[in-house]
Amino acid sequence: MDDVGKSLTKIIKERKWNEEFNNLMQNVMKDPDVVQFIQEHAEELDNPAIEKSAAKLYEFVNEKKKYQDNKANQLAPGYEPKLIMNHHYIDVTYVPTSELVAKQREKSIKNLIHSMDMPKGIREATLDEFQSTNERQEALIEAIKFVEAYTNEPKKFQRGLYLQGSFGVGKTYLLGAVAHALAKSGFPSTLMHFPSFAVEMKQSIGQNTTGEKIEAVKKAPILMLDDIGADSMSSWIRDDVLGVILQHRMQEQLPTFFSSNLAMEQLEEHLTFTQRGEDEPLKAQRIMERVRFLAKEVTMQGVNRRQQQYENE
Ligand code: ADP
Ligand code: MG
Repeated sequence: MDDVGKSLTKIIKERKWNEEFNNLMQNVMKDPDVVQFIQEHAEELDNPAIEKSAAKLYEFVNEKKKYQDNKANQLAPGYEPKLIMNHHYIDVTYVPTSELVAKQREKSIKNLIHSMDMPKGIREATLDEFQSTNERQEALIEAIKFVEAYTNEPKKFQRGLYLQGSFGVGKTYLLGAVAHALAKSGFPSTLMHFPSFAVEMKQSIGQNTTGEKIEAVKKAPILMLDDIGADSMSSWIRDDVLGVILQHRMQEQLPTFFSSNLAMEQLEEHLTFTQRGEDEPLKAQRIMERVRFLAKEVTMQGVNRRQQQYENE
């Protein structure tokens, strides 16, 4: 090992390189990875080749140090520098670390979850981390059953879930966890906070974008409507937005989830009365027929887990 280092030092000296460079290269040549690499490739490397590779060796030693110290100014953060042979010279290549690979995978998973007006952390929810209690076990089991059935037979109609329960029991969290599990298998879903969507729809009237927005939601391969029934709806939102979306999804048999503080029966009552106070039980019944076709009601109970609020709530 020492021999290699010595002979290199000799070359550098003989060439009378300036002292600064000389000092730098002496350190580089002492680096155990450099020494080992040169030994391993002794047959392919002669002194002029090593000399010509000096800049690469220098880069390697420098970047390796930054990588090991986890410095912010690395040439390729998340990549570990490695020495390789490249046409008889030494070169540096950057190999993605397992953490980076995991991070990239997590990012591509998240990209399959389209969330609209949802809490920030929702795309990180996972079924594995869902803390189950007796009162929420049924919902978890149903969620897992859905993911299994859908990932096995995505073309076949699978009924979604209507998660019903009081504030803070984890309905939104469970929707996020289902979306995450589906994304892991490559299936995209759209999660949206229904009351915000309704407001956005109203604002888009007159901008000609209403139809476009409804189309996108209608056709989402998997749709999750969060917090339905939280606000009173206008008859327009109920019949021409929600009704149209659900009608299409029923016809096309597209999986649809809901979460609500209200049980289905209470939602029906809620939908009967519009913002203007009109009493329209038939209209409400029509919506509920679609909801019932699309989703199975599951009750979640338990304590309010909202000690820490989501960031954008
Ligand atoms: P809901 O939608 O029913 O009102 P959330 O899903 O917003 O309730 O949950 C409330 C809080 O509790 C959130 O901060 C959420 O991250 C957390 N939480 C809920 N359920 C779980 C769970 N099973 N495991 C871990 N954290 C949870
Ligand atoms: Mg919620």
